[in-house]
Amino acid sequence: MDHKGRLQRLQQALRQQRFDTLLVTHPANVSYLCGFTGSAGVMALSPKGATLFTDGRYIAQAKEQVQGARVVIAPKPPLAAAAVRLAKSRGRRTHVVGIEAEHMSVASRTRLSAALPRSFRLKPAPALVEQSRMIKDGEEIDLIRGAVRLGAGLFDTILENIRLGTRESDVAAEMEHAARRAGAEGMSFPTIIAAGQRSALPHGRASTEPIPEGFVVCDFGVILRGYCSDMTRTLYVGRPTAEARLFYQAVWEAQQAGIEAVRPGAPVGQVDRAARNALKKAGLARYFTHSTGHGVGLEIHEAPRIAAAQREVLSPGMVITIEPGAYVPGRWGVRIEDMVVVTDSGCEILTPTTKELITI
Ligand code: ZN
Ligand code: ZN
Repeated sequence: MDHKGRLQRLQQALRQQRFDTLLVTHPANVSYLCGFTGSAGVMALSPKGATLFTDGRYIAQAKEQVQGARVVIAPKPPLAAAAVRLAKSRGRRTHVVGIEAEHMSVASRTRLSAALPRSFRLKPAPALVEQSRMIKDGEEIDLIRGAVRLGAGLFDTILENIRLGTRESDVAAEMEHAARRAGAEGMSFPTIIAAGQRSALPHGRASTEPIPEGFVVCDFGVILRGYCSDMTRTLYVGRPTAEARLFYQAVWEAQQAGIEAVRPGAPVGQVDRAARNALKKAGLARYFTHSTGHGVGLEIHEAPRIAAAQREVLSPGMVITIEPGAYVPGRWGVRIEDMVVVTDSGCEILTPTTKELITI
């Protein structure tokens, strides 16, 4: 679906939910709806039209990127410009303006409210754009495949650089260099290389510590043409004991169980439970301290979250991660993460990399 189609779908939702205008302030949502990737942009969307407000730095970029929306270049901050324009559209009745509550500061809301006449009412809107973004169209899935392929290529850089005694940050640096050389716009989040006892930190960013014997959790991703990739592999430096192998195997089986539970119509909580139950059987459930996965797209973490308390149901076109892990504080940790796309009958694993335990 092109940007016009996305806008139309959203405009229909606005009409149904009786919003006169929706102010889209979240950059990823702006980019999704009209293609604009500048850092300063606000969209005012009504059931009949769409306008992007931005400033003088983005004249050329807006002209090149924006599809389906009018562009207004203003000498003031985009939100203030949108408010001035809205105020002029005043009619007799109350004008309901939807705002993205998750993406507007209290200060912005106060200024916006002060700039609008009393007949305007600001109302937090449901996450309409995020809901639409959950289901990727064919073009988006192709872009995601591209990002996943580039990201997975960095696994070779890890294998070439991880050695006993190398610093975690040196491995991350080589990966990030390789990513840029391969055309990535950047990393989708700070690279995690967590070795030895640090592997028990689920979000252990690469530190300047030398890599000791033991597990190394490597969690990394790139941004390519706006879309993110995300994967985790855990390696072992040295010779793993039988206990270490069993520990790894249990996480791998949990990841497999999670993937097998992914199909259209499945509640996300059920996928989370499948992974968690597998670790329970191995006696490791208490060491699995985060949710099973998350949506990935224009942002590294987006809806749906694959967690027990979430209500979402999987549909074809959703792209999610399945990433159970087990972390024994002070000792070791393992995580394995793939990206999958929900298909009509189940799911397709996008991440091509082997999950056999690689030893260095
Ligand atoms: Zn990850
Ligand atoms: Zn992830």
